Amino acid sequence: MQVFKFGGASVKDADSVQNIVTVLKKTGYTNKLVVISAMGKTTNALEEVINAYFDDKVSISEAIKKSNIYHTQIISSLFPEEHAVFEVIKTLFEDLENFLKRNKSPNYDFVYDQVICFGELISTKIISAYLTQSGIKNNWLDARELIKTNTNYRDAQVHWETTQKAIQKNINTEELSITQGFIASDQNNFTTTLGREGSDYTGAIFAYCLNADKVIIWKDVPGVLNGDPRVFKNTKLLQRISYNEAIEMAFYGASIIHPKTLQPLQRKEIPLYVKSFLTPESPGTFIGKGIQLDPMVSCFILKKDQILISLSSIDFSFIMEDNISDIFNLLHIYKMKVTMMQNSAISFSVCVENKFNNLEPLLKKLRAIYKVRWNEGVTLLTARHASSNEINVLLHGRTILLKQENRTVTQYVLKE
Ligand code: ASP
Ligand code: MG
Repeated sequence: MQVFKFGGASVKDADSVQNIVTVLKKTGYTNKLVVISAMGKTTNALEEVINAYFDDKVSISEAIKKSNIYHTQIISSLFPEEHAVFEVIKTLFEDLENFLKRNKSPNYDFVYDQVICFGELISTKIISAYLTQSGIKNNWLDARELIKTNTNYRDAQVHWETTQKAIQKNINTEELSITQGFIASDQNNFTTTLGREGSDYTGAIFAYCLNADKVIIWKDVPGVLNGDPRVFKNTKLLQRISYNEAIEMAFYGASIIHPKTLQPLQRKEIPLYVKSFLTPESPGTFIGKGIQLDPMVSCFILKKDQILISLSSIDFSFIMEDNISDIFNLLHIYKMKVTMMQNSAISFSVCVENKFNNLEPLLKKLRAIYKVRWNEGVTLLTARHASSNEINVLLHGRTILLKQENRTVTQYVLKE
């Protein structure tokens, strides 16, 4: 069986929903599990709803209405007026509003997950109904009943054993199933999520638990390129990438694949394809065992919005093992993702991603012990297999705050 994943851009309007039918017609309707994200920019729109809830509350209904109109427009072009899907979507929006009315929890991350999941619930209901209307039999599954996690809302960790049991028990792999990416649930059945852009990871979880033959991520680009075409010139399509090469690329910000996706696939040697939903017959990119990279070209990855924190001791002491372990403990507590680090005898620099808005409290703790300098909004440039000439061209006119190099990778923290 195969696992397909369609992201937000591949379900952003009525045409793209129709295109899913085209892709399924070309690739077969059976032996498939299809994982789908929220439509277009719905997740961002729901983040606005959540922020309104925590800010002023007055703009909540305005924000919900915007998303409701967007989805209603899509279903109006896909279904006849009297179709049951209108009621289904209406009810989901009512459920969302009712949750916010009744909620007592002041926990932002908890509320975030209970609200954000509606994007995926709505998109999969629409697509499942549209497939049915197009004569394609399918089973709609609630991913929250299948993927179980801890209670680390917004970045939950999977409980693999219970997840595997639930998935194997409830999915008929001979048929076509439709489910949500990104969302899961904890042991009390509250919704959890796997981190922004986590639908790729959902695909990998299902593939792992079902021993799938392959995973295909359908995109609006021909496959994985050696750099983001919006930033770099003359980008090339990568035909084959090894798991390890792809893991490194995703970790350092190649946004085409969610970084957690590859390890479960690698464990079972399940190949991952990244293909264009506009030209499903083109080969795209294969990620799997074997050759490191084909063609062997340099790859460039930019990760924006990083924070570079540099610490030095107040009392002339060295920054040693005990300090570093304390520093990491704080980074862990404040959920900072470390993307690069460097230390010398008297200073320690770390580049982090502040996904959970915790910079202020972290700096406060650090300032009590160290002299702290920091730069917000810096960019991490990762160059793999690149010549110094190529790198120099990219660095021209930019301020380098930190550099690190080994045989295959050169990384820079750049002031942006
Ligand atoms: N809809 C979620 C997001 O935009 C998950 C995903 O697209 O993978 O982050
Ligand atoms: Mg998305």
